[in-house]
Amino acid sequence: MQTRITLPQSDLPTHWYNALPDLPTPLAPPLDPQTGEALDPQQLEAIFPRGLIEQELSSEPLIPIPEPVQDIYRLWRPTPLIRAARLEKAIGTSCRIYFKDESVSPTGSHKPNTAVPQAYFNKAEGITRLSTETGAGQWGTALSFACRMLDMHCTVYMVRISFEQKPYRQIIIKSYGGEIFPSPSRRTKSGSAVLDQDPECKGSLGLAISEAVEDAATNLGTKYTLGSVLNHVLLHQTIIGLETRQQLQAVGEKPDYLIGCVGGGSNFAGLMLPFLPLKLAGEDITCIAAEPKACPSLTRGAYRYDFGDMARLTPLIKMHTLGHSFMPAPIHAGGLRYHGNAPVLCNLVDAGVVQPRAYFQNECFEAARLFQNTEGFLPAPETSHAIRAAIETAEKARPGSSMVFLYSGHGLLDLASYEAYFQGRLEDYELPQGVIDEALTSCPEWE
Ligand SMILES: *Cc1c(COP(=O)(O)O)cnc(C)c1O
Repeated sequence: MQTRITLPQSDLPTHWYNALPDLPTPLAPPLDPQTGEALDPQQLEAIFPRGLIEQELSSEPLIPIPEPVQDIYRLWRPTPLIRAARLEKAIGTSCRIYFKDESVSPTGSHKPNTAVPQAYFNKAEGITRLSTETGAGQWGTALSFACRMLDMHCTVYMVRISFEQKPYRQIIIKSYGGEIFPSPSRRTKSGSAVLDQDPECKGSLGLAISEAVEDAATNLGTKYTLGSVLNHVLLHQTIIGLETRQQLQAVGEKPDYLIGCVGGGSNFAGLMLPFLPLKLAGEDITCIAAEPKACPSLTRGAYRYDFGDMARLTPLIKMHTLGHSFMPAPIHAGGLRYHGNAPVLCNLVDAGVVQPRAYFQNECFEAARLFQNTEGFLPAPETSHAIRAAIETAEKARPGSSMVFLYSGHGLLDLASYEAYFQGRLEDYELPQGVIDEALTSCPEWE
């Protein structure tokens, strides 16, 4: 049995797949919060380069990957697809479980897949510095790596709880030449406003986004980058699913299930979107998006227009949201603590194409531990949600089914959270409905 399915570098996809023209229902447009009218794309130019805005709105089915981006991708791509035969044996399933391993990138997750092209398209328009937020630190690391590859400056606002929990992330970001500040910070008005209210505030992704957007909007030569949620981010991540399709074909497999964890939705969408045409053509593929019960935007959020950030600086986007004022509990899967979700993914959840599931962090760490002790690799706490969902799916699936889950990143810099798990110090948070209802009152009126 072949357990490690690799592709030659010459098979690296040359185009990303754009799902926008294939969506079963049209995507709700972003709105201008002042007027409630569809946003004029020009308004985005204060914070994004034209090249990326074009991709954000494109109706071209395939978008070429520039040669210099392919060149950097080849440092780690194509990534392997691995049959988790030992995990299958341990849980006694007759299902075939594969995982697409995005942990082999230089920074250990799928995030460089979009960090590199984002830096590239900014640089092409004369931008010299990129600002961004980071939750668990994976995105800030990926962007500082991409900026180093393309000789640009990088400023990262890191959610304070992660800044404190994950000191090694700061060191990597700095070692690539990036600068990093805990958020809320005193560098921005948005950060200062929150600190005046609550000097101990541990931050949230929504707030860190406000700080990074403000930095870009108020400094010439600086643009903002987002590591998830937006259409162009999902587009760049489709390289994952495009490779997976080739790899499955090489071993004569058709997937019955595609599974991934969801923070903002980019890794999961990157895996499943390239299979969307097959699914819409009638192939029986079940797509499962796994999120934490402590931040259950897809399973319990409202599907409506909301701001992407806490300070209400972004356009309104239609998504499953817990409300932009939502402050998630301090779970260890920092990358899954976002109040909203990618509009493309929400559109597919609403259309019934994608099924969301929510899990407690202890059951996810338990799944991660089983995975590590069978397959040998230590997953990121975010990734453990996909593993939990894969194991549960294998238990319930028709015998002999096949599935692919996305191994979004390794956990070698998340050891403090594993220690907390081993010591029984992890709490399982289930969000009371009152908290969701309260946070949703902050949503704007537009439905
Ligand atoms: C950021 C991150 C996630 C969540 O982000 P998505 O945009 O939903 O993919 C998941 N896993 C890892 C390892 C991450 O770094």
